[in-house]
Amino acid sequence: MKVLVIGAGVVGLTTAWYLTKHGHEVTVVERCAGPAMETSFGNAGGVCPAFAGPWAAPGMPLKALKWMFRENAPLKVRPRLDPHQWSWMLRFLANCTASRFAENKARMQMMAHYSKACLVALREEVGIAYDDAANGVLQVFATEEEMAGGVRAAAVLERLEIPHRLVDRDGIATIEPALAASGAPLAGGLHLPDDETGDCRLFCTRLADLLTERGCVFFYDTSVLRLVRSGDRIDRAVTTEGGMQADAYVVACGPFAPSLLGTLDIRLPVYPVKGYSITCEIDLPERAPRSSVMDEHSKVMITRLGTRLRAAGVAEIAGFDGSLRETALAGIRARVRALFPDAADYDASSVWCGFRPMTPDGPARVGPTRFANLFLNAGHGSNGWTQACGTASYLADIISGERPQIEYDGHVQQRQSRTTSARSSI
Ligand SMILES: Cc1cc2nc3c(=O)[nH]c(=O)nc-3n(C[C@H](O)[C@H](O)[C@H](O)COP(=O)(O)OP(=O)(O)OC[C@H]3O[C@@H](n4cnc5c(N)ncnc54)[C@H](O)[C@@H]3O)c2cc1C
Repeated sequence: MKVLVIGAGVVGLTTAWYLTKHGHEVTVVERCAGPAMETSFGNAGGVCPAFAGPWAAPGMPLKALKWMFRENAPLKVRPRLDPHQWSWMLRFLANCTASRFAENKARMQMMAHYSKACLVALREEVGIAYDDAANGVLQVFATEEEMAGGVRAAAVLERLEIPHRLVDRDGIATIEPALAASGAPLAGGLHLPDDETGDCRLFCTRLADLLTERGCVFFYDTSVLRLVRSGDRIDRAVTTEGGMQADAYVVACGPFAPSLLGTLDIRLPVYPVKGYSITCEIDLPERAPRSSVMDEHSKVMITRLGTRLRAAGVAEIAGFDGSLRETALAGIRARVRALFPDAADYDASSVWCGFRPMTPDGPARVGPTRFANLFLNAGHGSNGWTQACGTASYLADIISGERPQIEYDGHVQQRQSRTTSARSSI
């Protein structure tokens, strides 16, 4: 079967990979000049199934309210005259109940753990290297209140039988010795030894090379302008380079998926939540994190990627504003400097921002649509690197008519069957 994958971020590329493994003839269309030039470019580098879960959680509305008055708060909402933003935020709030959170978290956990297993298998199969390491992630807490949250998180991990360890300040230093030199207050930490790290962009460029070797065709600098329907099927994609036809189409456009699907009257509740990262060469390796530290206070994640250090964080609900806000970057620099004072020259870092493709409830939308040959793989939010291989493998099974190895509960179809209007909202 000929399959056209739209988008060459980590989700589109992994989808192309598993489709190719199923024996399909795959073409990838990407509007940028190469792979992973949007959200998959500069993320925090964490492959962290243990962290996978929705942002919509009990207590989040109150936290968000408090953050409105804190300088350099992890979350900033800039209300706009945009119905998509308001309806997304209302759906987000509706998902902050304990029961919705539990349901969404369980679904994301299952996908994330499956995804890590898929990534490990892929790595073993082809020997792909991407400044990867399997040394766990340490979440650190600045206050006793944050530590209490860590204890609650540990109880959930216990129930899910996910390896973890709560540690005090001394315990932190045994896992990440460089933190002993930090002057920042640290009450304790939660160590997740099975989580991994790696450079998502490097993974994508190398996976794209492997795909090319296996016959997958790439069209870069090519935008899909719209998908043309014929009855209940997609007939062709209209691109800036002309029409393209395939037996099946996969929309893997991350935060940009809603506008493309809008041309088919499909409303995808994915909102671009902007984040930032800085990357610099490590000067003193013994002063840098051995693996990755997630600072709960600032929600900044600091990860060693080979000889580099990446720090990423901040969430801005403000539409597709691609400006690099200096105060946001300064906040990230200040936090990483406080935790790892001499590891690198943070003023010499390269800077980046990207848009997390967030659904209001958390889980990505993966599966068929009301068009028989149109499939979605979008909305991976803050977990797309962690969940890419799993969602891609799952979708490739569905497209190939095989039973997926996990039940992701038919999320896309289930939502659509509830829709009675001509427009579908999923
Ligand atoms: C600051 C930050 C930190 C993060 N940290 C982590 C982390 O530590 N771990 C983790 O798991 N996740 C993390 N994430 C999330 C993760 O980066 C994303 O979920 C993931 O990259 C999304 O991948 P994607 O392929 O769906 O989207 P993208 O990477 O944005 O790819 C979509 C592609 O589609 C292309 N496209 C769009 N429209 C069209 C069109 N019409 N025609 C052709 N091409 C089109 C775009 O150009 C783009 O290349 C982080 C995100 C941010 C912003």
